[in-house]
Amino acid sequence: MELMDGKELAKNIRANLKEEVEELKKKGIYPKLAVIMVGDDKASAVYVRNKSKACNEIGVEYEEFLLKADTTMDELLELIQKLNKDEKIDGILLQSPIPRHLDINEAFMAIDPKKDVDGFHPVNVGKLSLNQDCFVSCTPYGIIKMLETYNVPIEGARAVIIGRSNIVGKPLIQCLLNKNATVTICHSKTKNLEEVTKQADILIAAIGKPEFVKGNMVKEGTAVIDVGINRTDEGKLLGDVNFEEVSKKASYITPVPGGVGPMTIAMLMTNVVKAAKYREQK
Ligand code: NAD
Repeated sequence: MELMDGKELAKNIRANLKEEVEELKKKGIYPKLAVIMVGDDKASAVYVRNKSKACNEIGVEYEEFLLKADTTMDELLELIQKLNKDEKIDGILLQSPIPRHLDINEAFMAIDPKKDVDGFHPVNVGKLSLNQDCFVSCTPYGIIKMLETYNVPIEGARAVIIGRSNIVGKPLIQCLLNKNATVTICHSKTKNLEEVTKQADILIAAIGKPEFVKGNMVKEGTAVIDVGINRTDEGKLLGDVNFEEVSKKASYITPVPGGVGPMTIAMLMTNVVKAAKYREQK
C-alpha cells in the first residue's frame, strides 16, 4: 500500500506557483484573491485562514471582505459586482455556508465566470461537462492531480464516487469521465452500496460520515481517496474511510488530515494564478 501524500504534493505545487507568480509580477501583474465571508461560521474561519496562508506563501495578494450575518442579498450582490469590476482582483471566492436568508446560487451566478476560481458558476460547470477549458472545482481538481501524480490509471478504470454534492461528487463525475474512466456515483438512496463500491478500481468517499467506508466495502488493490473531514468531540479529525481496515486492502490511500485537504487549497491557488493570466491576454 502506498500513501498518497497530499501535503507534500501540495507543497510542490505551491513552490511551482510561487515561481509563476514571480514571473507575472515582472510583467506588472500582481495576482489577487478576494474572499467574501458572511456571518461567523467557525469552520469557515479555519478554511479561510488556510487560504490566506497559501496566498501569502506564493506571493498572491489577499483581501477579505467580512459581511455581517444580517447582510441583505442586495448588499452581497453589490459587493460581488464591485469586485467583478475591480481590475486588480483576479479571483473571487464566496466562502460557504452563508446565512440561510441569502440565496447562494444567485450569489455564485453573480460572480464573473473569469474570476470564479472555485469553479461554481454554471458557465464553468457547463464548460467542465463539455470538456472545455474552465475553472475546475478545487477538490475534484486536486483529486485528479493526486491520482495522476501517483500514476494511478484512470483511463478505463472503474471509478466509484460516494456523495453527490455540487462541490465534490458531481464535478468529479465529469473530471473522471474526461479522463476516460467508467464512472458510477452513489448517494444516500443507493441500494446495496457495498456491491457497487466493491467493483471500484478507484473509490472516492465524500460523504461527511466518520469512517463510513469499511474494509468489507472495498476490493483488494483499490485506490482510495478520502475527502471527508469530520471532527470528533475530542477535536480529532477523521475521514470518511476507516483507514486501519481499508489501508490493508488498498493499493493507494489518502490520509486525513494531509490528503485531499491541502490539495484543495493548492488547486485554488492554481486557479488564482490561471485567472491572473487572463489579465496578460487583455
Ligand atoms: P454533502 O455534505 O453536501 O453531502 C454528502 C453526500 O453524501 C450526499 O450526496 C449524500 O447523498 C451522501 N451520503 C450521505 N449518507 C450516505 C450514505 N449512507 N450512503 C451513501 N451516500 C451517503 O457533501 P460534501 O460537501 O461533498 O462533503 C462531504 C465531506 O467532504 C464532508 O466531510 C466535508 O467536510 C468534506 N469536504 C472536504 C473537502 C476537502 O478539501 N478535503 C472539500 C469539500 C468537502
